[in-house]
Amino acid sequence: MSHETIESLLEEERRFPPTAAFAAQATVRDPAIYEQGEDIEAFWESHAKSFTWFSAWSKVLDWQPPFAKWFVGGTTNITVNCLDRHVEGDKADKTAFIWEGEPGDERIITYADLLRDVCRCANGLRALGVRKGDRVTIYMGMIPELAVAMLACARIGAAHSIVFGGFSPDALKERINDSDSRVVITADGAWRRAGVVPLKANVDAALAETPRVKTCVVVERVGRAKAGVEMVEGRDIWWHELVADQPETCDPEHMDSEDLLFILYTSGTTGKPKGIAHTTGGYMVGAAMTHKWVFDVKDDDIYWCTADIGWVTGHSYIVYGPLANGSTGVMYEGGPDYPDKDRFWDIVERRKVTIFYTAPTAIRAFMGWGDEFVTKHDLASLRLLGSVGEPINPEAWMWYHEIIGGGRCPIVDTWWQTETGSIMVSALPGLTTNKPGSASRALPGIHVDVVDEEGQSVPLGSGGFLVIKKPWPSMLRTIYGDDERYKDVYWSKFDGLYFAGDGCKRDSEGYLWLLGRVDDIMLVSGHNISTMEVESALVDHPDVAESAVVGRTHEIKGQAITAFVTMRAGTENTDEKRTEIRKHVATKLGPLGRPEEVYFAPQLPKTRSGKIMRRLLRDIAEGRDLGDVTTLADPSVVDSLRAQYQRHHT
Ligand code: ATP
Ligand code: MG
Repeated sequence: MSHETIESLLEEERRFPPTAAFAAQATVRDPAIYEQGEDIEAFWESHAKSFTWFSAWSKVLDWQPPFAKWFVGGTTNITVNCLDRHVEGDKADKTAFIWEGEPGDERIITYADLLRDVCRCANGLRALGVRKGDRVTIYMGMIPELAVAMLACARIGAAHSIVFGGFSPDALKERINDSDSRVVITADGAWRRAGVVPLKANVDAALAETPRVKTCVVVERVGRAKAGVEMVEGRDIWWHELVADQPETCDPEHMDSEDLLFILYTSGTTGKPKGIAHTTGGYMVGAAMTHKWVFDVKDDDIYWCTADIGWVTGHSYIVYGPLANGSTGVMYEGGPDYPDKDRFWDIVERRKVTIFYTAPTAIRAFMGWGDEFVTKHDLASLRLLGSVGEPINPEAWMWYHEIIGGGRCPIVDTWWQTETGSIMVSALPGLTTNKPGSASRALPGIHVDVVDEEGQSVPLGSGGFLVIKKPWPSMLRTIYGDDERYKDVYWSKFDGLYFAGDGCKRDSEGYLWLLGRVDDIMLVSGHNISTMEVESALVDHPDVAESAVVGRTHEIKGQAITAFVTMRAGTENTDEKRTEIRKHVATKLGPLGRPEEVYFAPQLPKTRSGKIMRRLLRDIAEGRDLGDVTTLADPSVVDSLRAQYQRHHT
């Protein structure tokens, strides 16, 4: 990127204020909350007081940039806040999770059930020798035992490191060794589109090169015969045998507010994953409060976050935030298109889901599949929708709003990262007038800015780098075992500002529009152009379902925009269509935004969390060898795109 700020080409005039009915019942109704959040210490302290602590803190914040400590000296256990206080209160019989397996089996788990299961697992882990301060790697599908295992670790003060169940043995091995885990918890397999993901076999392969691992605990999910599991004598133990005779209560470890709660490796869109370290007290307060404000959760809501617990969204908004708030959550094991492409809407209808939180990658897939899978279901129970993971293109936002939300549900577009621990930028659904494609503004108590290359605030109406100006409770404390890398990645670009790595525009009213990763920004004829805006203009074409653009070297312009587009079902991929699509973008954005070339891509390369990996498309467009592909969901996608690209260029 040059020293210039990012130019903005996209104009979005549509406005959606909350309905009077929604605003009247919203948890956050008073805009004064933003002013209260100016004094971060007083603000976050007042919220921390609503949690159960064994002993109070002596200092709210100890800030030795870039190292923060929150609620210094306070002790607590997050599982007491997520479980015991509800069971001891009036929620013992309230449903914590409505779990649905891919084959259609279900489990209804109350808060009392969950506390009991967590305690038995925690006692089992203690019996295996796991102690406060240890790390445990968890590699599972979306089954209740995944939540139980992480909470059991937290109960006894061991940090969990969850590795998404779609990762390869190699990626798993690297994460086990980096976190120095001695125990791995897994399942025999996981259901995925009626097939079995061989989790235990993957663990076996990984454990060939993890000398420190002494024990592997295995949940029986798909059945030993189906999964073809081989238990290694002296190392492997079945979960049900481990917990069978364990007591149903377990004293929670007294955790210092700054004790490590978990390590989570980032999804790896840009390269080598980083072990993000989160601690106890601040993370708890940040995850729970943001869940309450942003999702407006009430006691009778049925809340469904479709993320996998293996990502930070699942940590904060399936497990810790919702449980701390005593809410009822849906948890689903399988794919969105099994047995058919309406599985999600079938679940929403049957379970009467009221709050639904998903990712743009899923929304664009649903759009591409066609409205009929949605409209055959009654989605009247929905009252609030959320989005996370990538910028949401205005057209995808509109589709989400109209087709899923029936035009009545506010949408919270939530910007945050593994590193931030909880949502940083989002609408408050009872207060904010939505603009499709804008995440709106920083939450109360969170202070962000958009700056230029020198770290100076850019004027309203301009683009630049998104930064966070003040520490916040759920911020990462470091990169596990690597303070230098922590300083270097997040704190070295601008003095005293947290560098998020994302481009952002602030419009004339102060709304924030995320423009994608700064590494992806294109420099065309001296203008910095955001991938997000060109992609939004492409998706605005009625036949285009999804798109990714990259800048490739161009003799005259410096860079030229190359677009890869996935068309909606039933369209023809002709040269006329390419021309039409290029014209469409030029009409929306002006000639500067027009792609030099358009390639039809049946699929785009994505991480296992569904994010587009533009750096690989750049490698293709530049004719280079592909960079690190270990976090890619489906390597065959890039191979076929590259073949197509080369055919056109030879
Ligand atoms: P890595 O850091 O290893 O490259 P990653 O950034 O994809 O991986 P995550 O922490 O899961 O890992 O993702 C955070 C990033 O996702 C943000 O920095 C941003 O680029 C993008 N993102 C998340 N939510 C939004 C949103 N609502 N709008 C725009 N971008 C978003
Ligand atoms: Mg990142």
